[in-house]
Amino acid sequence: MTEFRDQSTSYVDVVLPVPLRQSFTYKVLSDIADLTACRVYVPFGKRFAIGFVIRHHNDKVNTSYEIKTVRDIIDTVPLIDFSYFKWILLSSDYYHAPLGLAFQQAIPAYFWDYDQINKNPKIREAKSSKSTWVTDNITQLNLEQESVSQILKSKLNLFFPFLLFGITGSGKTEVYIDVMKAVLKEGKSVLFLLPEIGLTPQMMSRLEKHFGDNLLVTHSGLTQNQRLNHWNRARRESGLVIMGTRSALFSPAKNLGLIIIDEEHDTSYKQDDRFRYHARQLALLRAQDLKIPIILGSATPSLEMWHLAKESKIGLGMLSKRASDAKLPQMTILDYTKEKEHLNHNLAVAKQIHDEIDKNFSQGSQSMIFVGQRGYAQNAFCKACKEILSCPNCAVGLTYHRHGQKILCHYCQYTDNFQFTCPKCQENQLILIGTGIQAIEEEIKTLHPHLKIMRLDSDAITTHSQQRQILEDFFQKKYDVLIGTQMIAKGHDFSNVNLVVAIGVDAQLGLADFRANERAFNNLVQVAGRAGRASQQAKVLVQALNPEHTVFKMAQSYDYVTFANEELKARQFLLYPPFSRLMQIKFYGNHDSALQKYFSLVRPFLDQLQSKYNKEELKILGIVPMPISKIKNKFRYHLIIKIKKGLKINDFSDYLLNVLEKNSSPGINITVDIDPLTMI
Ligand code: ADP
Ligand code: ZN
Repeated sequence: MTEFRDQSTSYVDVVLPVPLRQSFTYKVLSDIADLTACRVYVPFGKRFAIGFVIRHHNDKVNTSYEIKTVRDIIDTVPLIDFSYFKWILLSSDYYHAPLGLAFQQAIPAYFWDYDQINKNPKIREAKSSKSTWVTDNITQLNLEQESVSQILKSKLNLFFPFLLFGITGSGKTEVYIDVMKAVLKEGKSVLFLLPEIGLTPQMMSRLEKHFGDNLLVTHSGLTQNQRLNHWNRARRESGLVIMGTRSALFSPAKNLGLIIIDEEHDTSYKQDDRFRYHARQLALLRAQDLKIPIILGSATPSLEMWHLAKESKIGLGMLSKRASDAKLPQMTILDYTKEKEHLNHNLAVAKQIHDEIDKNFSQGSQSMIFVGQRGYAQNAFCKACKEILSCPNCAVGLTYHRHGQKILCHYCQYTDNFQFTCPKCQENQLILIGTGIQAIEEEIKTLHPHLKIMRLDSDAITTHSQQRQILEDFFQKKYDVLIGTQMIAKGHDFSNVNLVVAIGVDAQLGLADFRANERAFNNLVQVAGRAGRASQQAKVLVQALNPEHTVFKMAQSYDYVTFANEELKARQFLLYPPFSRLMQIKFYGNHDSALQKYFSLVRPFLDQLQSKYNKEELKILGIVPMPISKIKNKFRYHLIIKIKKGLKINDFSDYLLNVLEKNSSPGINITVDIDPLTMI
């Protein structure tokens, strides 16, 4: 667009890196026709800041204040591709999030720093490397893989969301690789997301064989400079495979031709602070805008995607058997309470599990033990006052850690020395109940002194490289048994693991969360999937307190489809996602009385809003304390709104947030989460 602009009447609407919903208008004294997606340096309050131009226009601007002038034009051509720019706008709109937050998420800090620009006017051009395809001993796709891959390769120039539902070990990765090669051949780039940094090294070495230097891996171990170079390489070069966790989605990939989200059901794709987004949702928006395919892979699809696939709103491909021809391991649910009564023992782990660990070792195989809770024992319980010792700052139980004999709070890091005297009633009646991972580890080490045992959880390690080392050592068979939390549950491919044990799933089922069943089922199937990836005789043992629970029954037969369909029925009845969208507004404050006063101010507005809608369309559940009602001495309340699909959140959210913010007072913190994954 080269239209003439009168110098004095050209204006730009600018987004600044602040959590505000609005943009700011400035005058431009330049005849550059279009500064959209360019950066400018502008006065803001008492200082100056870099902002992004979202609109360049000649509109008459009516304001009561003086319109200031852009001080410096930083880019004369857009810093980012127009499609990336547009997608940032779409993202902020979808989540009704402040534009400033969305832009900050999408553009690295470097580009917001004016001093950097003056110091270093040209960002070092990343060396563009030649393609070094390494021809690997190519895996011949099996029939199922081949047919899925053919479908995808025939849709490369369309918006084509595709759920790849393949059981654990069915060879989803080989399908990804095959489709990626086709996209790269067209000179386009691929964005490949995985859920967990711990999975990166394994996947990296697999992809490197195929893509060599064209593989660009983004992870938290990169320095600021490396990160910047990656970002620049991604926006200047095409034919790349850009791989990383959630935030890698914000790569301004040039000529993007395909997005892959591996383990799409994984909760780590949701970001819960600052710009609150779900990577899968934003990836779908991006693919739709670019008219490209997006592959969502999982052995336990999210109910959201399963529902869409069932309704034929997205494509569906199945891989129903393991690529190596191995069968899914047999899963046994052990009734722990019954065994304990029967054998009258004091073990935290069932006798049968101990026996199987020995047997598995004697057959030369490795074992993995998945434990749901951190710490040594879950809680300290006073037999006299019948209460669980809880954190003085948070409304949650304290967890006992063997190391140092401490009790600590996982929310605020409160710690104290553990004593058998109850701080409340002074009786010597505190006992430890529940079984955390450290207790399990100790028992297994004591009863199997001849085994090499390693534990992996967030208390045992402090860095990603430690995590990587432990997983690599286990892969190299340096340990016989790996005990871990969900950190070990995801996608790893260890061929020598023939026994998997799961302990503590019941506690997950007890959570006050409508996704509790889904999460527990996924966890069971995923951990079981670590066993027998190359063998026929693998076993999975699940220690349960309530073995009759439907989640155990369904997981035992790996019957995802029945489980998902039953669960969807319940969701539909209660109008939970995917049959509605949820908006959660959280209120935090130090003084409960101030919060109550505030709630009584805004309740009439909520009633008024509700009266405008049919309750089937929009349902405002009242303001109630959150399941964890206090953290770090802050009282926590939330307001949940169920929104029928099709009703636009933006139709009412401006009004609502305006009312909530206008009546608020200092000390009350309000946050909005659209499509929240957990609500405790
Ligand atoms: P998933 O990602 O579905 O869990 P992977 O892609 O990791 O499965 O494959 C599981 C194992 O099967 C890997 O060791 C992989 O090399 C192997 N594999 C995959 N496809 C084939 C095939 N067509 N022929 C032989 N082995 C295969
Ligand atoms: Zn606490």
